[in-house]
Parts: sequence; C-alpha cells; structure tokens
Amino acid sequence: MATDRSPSIRKLMRESYGNIRHEYDPWHVNKSLKKKLVSVSNKKNYRELRPWLRSISNHLYWACSSSHGDEQECVRRWTSVLHHIRGIHRWEENGREYQCAHPPLSEEDQEKKRWLEHDSPAFRALKELVEEKTLLRDLRQMALFEHTGSLEVFHNVTLKYAPKRLHFTYDSMRARTELAVIDHNINIGREQLEGKPQYKYMYTKTTQQWVAKPVYEPTSQDFRKDLMEDVLKLREEKSLEPWPRPPPRPRRLLQNIAPVPRPDPSELVAQRLSRFKQL
Ligand SMILES: [Zn+2]
Repeated sequence: MATDRSPSIRKLMRESYGNIRHEYDPWHVNKSLKKKLVSVSNKKNYRELRPWLRSISNHLYWACSSSHGDEQECVRRWTSVLHHIRGIHRWEENGREYQCAHPPLSEEDQEKKRWLEHDSPAFRALKELVEEKTLLRDLRQMALFEHTGSLEVFHNVTLKYAPKRLHFTYDSMRARTELAVIDHNINIGREQLEGKPQYKYMYTKTTQQWVAKPVYEPTSQDFRKDLMEDVLKLREEKSLEPWPRPPPRPRRLLQNIAPVPRPDPSELVAQRLSRFKQL
C-alpha cells in the first residue's frame, strides 16, 4: 500500500496492518527534499548546488525505481550521489567496490562538469540533507517505487462533483461520490495523446526550471448520457421502483467554530467604535 507520509496513516499501518508492506510515494518525499535543496542553494555559500538540483532530484527517483524493493540497496544508491557529485565514480564502501551506474564519462565531460569540492560548504550542506535520518528511514519504504498518483487524480474528480466549499446532505454526498467513482473508472488509463501536442510546457516556481508534462486524450463524459437514458428506459418499463425517500437525518451542524459563547452585540459594537476614539 502506498500513501503519503502523514503521521496518522503511518501509525495506523504500523499498529493495525503490520502484515501489509507500507510504502511512501516518492513524489511527496522528492517534493519536500527539493524544497530544502532550493532553500539551501539560494544561500550565498551554497550556490554551487544550483546546477545540480534537477540531477539530485532525478537521482532520488532512480534510486527508488532501480532497487526493486531492496531497502538497503535503495538507501545505498541514494547516498552514492555524494560520490558522483564530487566527480568520483568508483569508490569503496564497507570493503566492497562500487561504481556509478552511468556509462563512463569522457575526459572532456569529466573536466567540464562543475563537480563539488570535497570539503566545500556546499558539499557539506548537501551531505547533511542526503544523509538526514528521517529521509534515510523513509527511503526504506520507497524501494518498490509505488505511487499515489491515481488516488490523487480520483480526489480531483471528486472535487468536481462535490466541491469542498459547499455543504451537501449525506445522500447527496453519497450520490456525488458514486458519480465521481464512475467518472474516474471510465477515464482511468487514458493514453498519452498521439501527434501534437503530446506535451505541455510549464515553468515551475520552486525549481525555477521549465518542464514538459504529457498531455493525455481528453476525458469522456458520455456515461452521463447513458445513465440518463437507462433511468428513462427503466421508468418507461416501470421496472424501476420509485426511490424510497430516505428518512430525514438530524442536522448536526455547528453554527460556528467559536469555543466560547458570543458576547452581547452592543458590547462588540462598542468595542469596535472605541478603536477610533482618541485616547
Ligand atoms: Zn558518477
């Protein structure tokens, strides 16, 4: 099961579902790492990190996607960025020899790249982020490279039928959620558009870089027409039982969120007016 890293879900999975392997979505982890990297690289002494941000973030995905569920390997692959970024592509660790997974670099590449200095402030700052305890712990639960993307897509579809800013009764909420489920199930797994445009190009504020995002086939809403036709047909055939009116449910909405009762209105008005009085 893949989720974000919300502490309550973590606890629930650990305590009540110990038999299910719980993974974190690399996208969420990467997002918070990127944020930290950007803020560090904006500081004067750590500017050399700037050109590396995209590669470091890609490296995190690579570490997760290439370790096939091996937790230790996932962590080892991730921390290997600390060698590569200094221009070291072969190294020894716990008596074993390792090397980067990329093809050998040409001499020119090796010279052109802006490797970090061994003990520079930028490298030390990066090392601290890369080896952060919580990140290394979370990485052990990212080695299967599972995503929550389709769940988030479903949440977006639900928002279309049941916007958060409106209040719906229980029955309406239930019907709206069911519509969202149908809509989602019909439109899931759409292919990336063929021909042009297959990508849209967006500028992201956090990394200050342009990125390409795939454009998918448009969604289909034909199911609504089918649904209406079915309803009419069933009604004509009289095989559709009239919907039993649900029993009224007591509305238990609070009037407001205040934990203390409202003072007398005249007191509030007097308070407001006194703000404009000269002392
Ligand atoms: Zn390397």
